[in-house]
Order: sequence, then C-alpha cells, then structure tokens
Amino acid sequence: MNDKKLFDDKALKTIEAKLTQRFRELTRSLKQHDRETSSLLPRDSEEAAMMIGDMDLTEAEEKHESEELRQIREALERIQAGTYGACAGCGEPISHERLLTLPYAAHCVACQEKIEQT
Ligand SMILES: [Zn+2]
Repeated sequence: MNDKKLFDDKALKTIEAKLTQRFRELTRSLKQHDRETSSLLPRDSEEAAMMIGDMDLTEAEEKHESEELRQIREALERIQAGTYGACAGCGEPISHERLLTLPYAAHCVACQEKIEQT
C-alpha cells in the first residue's frame, strides 16, 4: 500500500470515467471530421479555393481536438501508472481544484505559466 497516493481510488475512478467519456466524444468528433472532409473534396478551382478556406478552419479545430485527445490519453496513462496528479514539471501535487476543472492537466499552475511564457 502506498500512503502517499495523491488521490484516493474513488476520486481517481471518477476522474478516469470523466476522461474516458471525453476521450470517446473527441474520437467520435474527429472521425466525423474525416468523413466530412473526404466527401467534400472540391472539383473545380473556384470551389476548391473556397473549400480550402473552409478546411483551414476545420483543420485548426481538428488540431485542437487531436491535442486534447493526446493530453487525455496521457492522463489516462498516468492514472494507470499511478502517477496521476503529480506535476510533470516539478513533481509537486497538482491542486485538486485544478484537476477538477482540467482533469488532463499535466502541470501545476506555476509550471503551466512558465510553459506558456516561453
Ligand atoms: Zn509544477
């Protein structure tokens, strides 16, 4: 038994369920994008230009979702590994408040601010 667990099993299960649900939502949404993009392949040039304009938005959106998906997958891996809740930067526990609003946060607020400043 490890007394220094950052979360009790019950809290961890709740977070894991939340992450898994979000993971499924995003996976479904990304698959939808794929279908839409391939069915909307442009034919003539004028239409193509417009389509490319539209696609940029979708791609940006998709990129954002892929990134979130990656972070969620990493968070689920940390749960499995038993390291969930510890900051990937300084190793200090991430506040519960932060993890409740951002369950896949890998860094504490201080480290996140440092990352965003660079
Ligand atoms: Zn930190």
